[in-house]
Amino acid sequence: MADERTFDDRDGWIWFDGKMVPWREANVHVLTHALHYASAVFEGQRAYGGTIFKLDEHSRRLRNSAEILGYTLPWSVEQISAACNEVLTANGLTDAYLRPIAWRGSEQMGVSAQKTKPHLAIATWEWGKYFDPTLAAKGIRLDIAEWRRPAPYTAPTQSKASGLYMIATMSKHRAEDRGYHDALMFDWRGQVAEATGANAFFIKDGVIHTPTPDCFLDGITRRTVIDLARRRGVEVIERTIWPEELADFQQMFLTGSAAELTSVASAGPWNFEVGDLSRQLAADYDDLVNGRTPNN
Ligand code: PMP
Repeated sequence: MADERTFDDRDGWIWFDGKMVPWREANVHVLTHALHYASAVFEGQRAYGGTIFKLDEHSRRLRNSAEILGYTLPWSVEQISAACNEVLTANGLTDAYLRPIAWRGSEQMGVSAQKTKPHLAIATWEWGKYFDPTLAAKGIRLDIAEWRRPAPYTAPTQSKASGLYMIATMSKHRAEDRGYHDALMFDWRGQVAEATGANAFFIKDGVIHTPTPDCFLDGITRRTVIDLARRRGVEVIERTIWPEELADFQQMFLTGSAAELTSVASAGPWNFEVGDLSRQLAADYDDLVNGRTPNN
């Protein structure tokens, strides 16, 4: 049974700047730079049967996200990955979600943060399916977000930076308030981009189409699923996709470390079916993360 208490009031351990601290003591001061000026970057990854899927890729992206924001984490990829494994073990978990987060501290207040020290914390908890699993067979319903993904010259779009999520949260809330499960976001040009926390794929006549990730994360799950599809001999085209084209696609799904592979029933006025190829790729992904060879 999942722990229903708030996230600051749980039993367990959090890895915090090199030490394992009791869950409730993993706190920061209110004058932390990241809280005021959005200097935090984070990761999200899942462990399956005790193994964290693509762990080093996540650790590498975390360091890179901080570099893009102008600070260097004093922990190597290997050290971050080792810390993730330690915190998983310390909490006695094998199937769990992990949330590493790095941020600038409280040594200095103001826009300038040159004197702040980088910090890193890693928490882990049991987290079931990101979307209601009873929807897996029929697919989730997406709203169309009013917010657009910003241009890469407007925001550090290749960093998994907390600040980029304010429009994601606003779009997700609006979607939920209107009875949808999530929202599809277009980019500043009006092209199809991604959902609020997952990448988007479309299928037409057995060919997969996915937007070129030039202003949003080229997700680790995204790349994994592209690879799985190509291994099955399925053509995958990364290209510009305009909203009008959605009328011609037969299937749609989202990918993300939390969302895994989730089928979509509709996005705004456009409807899709949960077809064989989406189902097959979801099964392949499940096999891969669980260390089973995909069925051919
Ligand atoms: N886009 C956004 C906005 C996300 O939050 C995520 C989840 N990290 C993704 C895409 C998918 O990335 P990944 O597959 O690496 O988890």
